[in-house]
Amino acid sequence: MRRQCLVIGGGLAGLVAGIRCAEAGLKVAVVTSGESGLAFASGAIDVLGYMPSAAGVHLNEPVSRPFEKIDELAEYFPEHPYARIGRDGVYKAMDWFHGQLAETGLSMFTASDEQQNQWRVTAAGALRPTWLSQSVAEVLPWDLQNVKRVVFVNISGFLDFLPELAASGLKRHPAFRNSQVEALNIELPLVNGMGATADTMRAPQLCRALGEKDFNIIASTLMEKVQDASLVVMPACLDSALDSLHLKELRRRTGLNIIDVATLPPSLPGIHMQQALQHRFAALGGFLIPATGIRHGIIENGRVFNVSNGEDLLTADHYILASGGFFSKGLNVRPDLNAEQVFSEPLPVKEPIFGLDLNTPEQFSERKFLSRTGHGFIRAGVRLNRDHQPMIAGQPLTNLHVAGTVLGGCDPVQECSGGGLSISTAWQAAAKVIADIEAAGEKA
Ligand SMILES: Cc1cc2nc3c(=O)[nH]c(=O)nc-3n(C[C@H](O)[C@H](O)[C@H](O)COP(=O)(O)OP(=O)(O)OC[C@H]3O[C@@H](n4cnc5c(N)ncnc54)[C@H](O)[C@@H]3O)c2cc1C
Repeated sequence: MRRQCLVIGGGLAGLVAGIRCAEAGLKVAVVTSGESGLAFASGAIDVLGYMPSAAGVHLNEPVSRPFEKIDELAEYFPEHPYARIGRDGVYKAMDWFHGQLAETGLSMFTASDEQQNQWRVTAAGALRPTWLSQSVAEVLPWDLQNVKRVVFVNISGFLDFLPELAASGLKRHPAFRNSQVEALNIELPLVNGMGATADTMRAPQLCRALGEKDFNIIASTLMEKVQDASLVVMPACLDSALDSLHLKELRRRTGLNIIDVATLPPSLPGIHMQQALQHRFAALGGFLIPATGIRHGIIENGRVFNVSNGEDLLTADHYILASGGFFSKGLNVRPDLNAEQVFSEPLPVKEPIFGLDLNTPEQFSERKFLSRTGHGFIRAGVRLNRDHQPMIAGQPLTNLHVAGTVLGGCDPVQECSGGGLSISTAWQAAAKVIADIEAAGEKA
């Protein structure tokens, strides 16, 4: 079957692009080789948490109203992906995404003022500005004044969440200096654990092992020990389904503000988002081709003619490349480089499927891991021309669009903008495909 659009990569960007195309009635497939960033992500969606450093100035103030900052960002950084989409486009994309998740049954919440960021707490006890959260609304609002006692609660022995570490991390935050922040471990029988103990489990196994008796013990311990806590933070291991039934039930029984945070990978909130997006894509008629890596593309007359996985050819009228960054092998470097070259040279980064022109950093990596200026490789990515087209040796490809981390052009780690970038660039790439197909239909 000839598809109107083939999306390469089934992470956040690829699924968003696929859903938007399918929603517009296009025949669309997503082909993907393996796990994506979602299996590691917190499950919250950041839009812009910090302004990037400009002209040597480090702007450390967290951004409270992310959409309002996008015009300013575009002025300083015209090559930033948000600059190409604009403030209204980013907001429309994010609002649309929120609506798509609601259709799947995955509840996500903005702050009560939906233009405003809220805080998400990480497993290390840090606070990061985010826009859309899987926690209930307003648990950690921008103004943190009323959070007087926070308790990080773990299942005894579970190694992928360290409540003492999280508590000491949060205690360092200026807003919590005068608050009570502590750790609590709850011993559970894990009757469904078939003899396995919590210290041998990751979050998904622990989730399957938790039974009625365990939830009763958690609820009664919380009521006995932390009844006056403003916030209880647990590892995200309670629910295997999108509707968070166990977490909701614990909140109901204890009357406590309980949130769960993503643990070390695999992250259940991230996996839930991936499942929700895959279901939505399928429900709209999209076709997912899993476990298939595209190796190269065949280009004719400035257009991608088809792509190959080494055995079969896949053909479409339009293609969206959403293959991720180095982490997902959407970009790569020669494996034989020595450590000194990594710190001192502009490295030969490659986009392996098409060999697209790239923006490459002058210095691949800083020597300091937690460098304030960030690492060059994070900004590496596909170069686009003025018409937003990718190029090979300066020649544009007219039916290939690029979305998500493979685009580069900014530092989503420092900015706290990863999810928003993937969603809005994918939304825009799909919009371009839809517009091109409509225009071609009108001409025909
Ligand atoms: C640890 C961690 C925590 C994060 N936390 C947050 C957070 O709290 N909030 C937030 O907003 N963002 C967060 N992010 C960022 C966010 O998850 C990413 O921005 C987003 O997942 C990237 O999506 P993507 O689709 O661009 O790329 P990826 O997720 O990398 O997906 C690319 C996909 O393409 C596939 N692929 C690659 N090459 C090929 C090929 N040749 N053929 C077929 N398929 C291919 C890969 O297998 C992969 O499935 C986090 C990221 C990480 C790693």
